[in-house]
Amino acid sequence: MAKKEIPYKIYLEESEMPKEWYNVRADMKEKPAPLLNPGTLAPMKREELMGVFCEELVDQELDNDTRFIPIPDEIRNFYKMYRPSPLVRAYCLEERLDTPAKIYYKFEGNNTSGSHKLNSAIAQAYYAKKQGLKGVTTETGAGQWGTALSMACAYFQLDCKVYMVKVSYEQKPFRREVMRTYGASVTPSPSMETEVGRRILAEFPGTTGSLGCAISEAVEKAVSSEGYRYVLGSVLNQVLLHQSVIGLETKAALDKYGVKADMIIGCAGGGSNLGGLIGPFMGEKLRGEADYRIIAVEPASCPSFTRGRYAYDFCDTGMVCPLSKMYTLGSGFIPAPNHAGGLRYHGMSPVLSKLYDDGLMEARAVEQTKVFEAAEQFARVEGILPAPESAHAIKVAIDEAMKCKETGEEKTIVFGLTGTGYFDLVAYERFHDGKMDDYIPTDEELEKSLSKLPKVNG
Ligand SMILES: *Cc1c(COP(=O)(O)O)cnc(C)c1O
Repeated sequence: MAKKEIPYKIYLEESEMPKEWYNVRADMKEKPAPLLNPGTLAPMKREELMGVFCEELVDQELDNDTRFIPIPDEIRNFYKMYRPSPLVRAYCLEERLDTPAKIYYKFEGNNTSGSHKLNSAIAQAYYAKKQGLKGVTTETGAGQWGTALSMACAYFQLDCKVYMVKVSYEQKPFRREVMRTYGASVTPSPSMETEVGRRILAEFPGTTGSLGCAISEAVEKAVSSEGYRYVLGSVLNQVLLHQSVIGLETKAALDKYGVKADMIIGCAGGGSNLGGLIGPFMGEKLRGEADYRIIAVEPASCPSFTRGRYAYDFCDTGMVCPLSKMYTLGSGFIPAPNHAGGLRYHGMSPVLSKLYDDGLMEARAVEQTKVFEAAEQFARVEGILPAPESAHAIKVAIDEAMKCKETGEEKTIVFGLTGTGYFDLVAYERFHDGKMDDYIPTDEELEKSLSKLPKVNG
């Protein structure tokens, strides 16, 4: 049987790990729209951004032209502790589904933070250290980004201050303790520590918080503290750049065995893992060298690609951040309280938004009970307990494999398995106890938050 020639796990050698990140913007003929100053509506200047972000990260954020950016040795050395990550051939899943499709997944859950987020956290911490800063501030929702950043800061001996969405802070005490083990201080958001937190609490007493609100607090804290900058775990161009290691390794592993992907699937919250995974493939597509179907998967309860609007919007609830042109549900949008599967940010990476708007990729929204069904199905044959976020990609990969079963097509499906779900067992419990339901926002609800988009959209 020819198919057994490909091992269950394709590992690259350490020496085959990427030495440069790939910047997909360099291959985009039309670039993503620039960030705007919310006061003047002019494109944000380098100097303005430097008050908020680390210097070199601002340069990466604004660089639409350099195709490859070297990965500093200090970062590569850290990567070597948990990379290259395996590209797994899902033989067991294929067999269980009885599909002619060939399924591969790139597994990013093999580090203590349990997700791909460490790839960018270590880069951002490195540049902060290099600049001589004392520390960084950030927000975290479910906690993966906060955990990754606290690991990275511990490594470079930087102070790390995390604003954690209050509902997660209360529901995920173990995440919080991991962050504290790595030396981070963790504050439930909204808090009384910042002006914007106090304002939001006065306006919405008893609110359990949101990512957009925690971002506002973290930004305020950074700009008002000497020697601190703000760092963000998704959405930004620089984060997609760092995450390109995922796609570069995937491509190298496939090339090693002469495998050509037909379809690349990833979950999309703010778009960083998907942007990283598809980067080099999208590059080929943009340069006309190859074609791939690329599918973003999002929760039906937070459907920014499939039901949002491509428009300038605030990145945060407190409206202190620059305006970004992206697919958005409006910065005031908060998913229903029963939403358990992560991926709850109201907006989407400006790079992916542009690619999607240009028709270069597709998007699909899936309901959470279906996502957990797919997670369980996957866990039972492939062994790994997936993060609910990752299970969005599993769901669509299975759907596509089942279509192949109907048509008899032997398509090659590659999807991103972004992390593990050990801290999501309360959500799994709700699913197992039959207490999970699906909530899909109505058009009226979406219209309500979309009607508050900033005026710049004309
Ligand atoms: C944060 C996270 C995501 C979603 O974030 P993106 O920026 O869209 O990649 C997906 N999976 C896991 C495991 C995560 O922690």
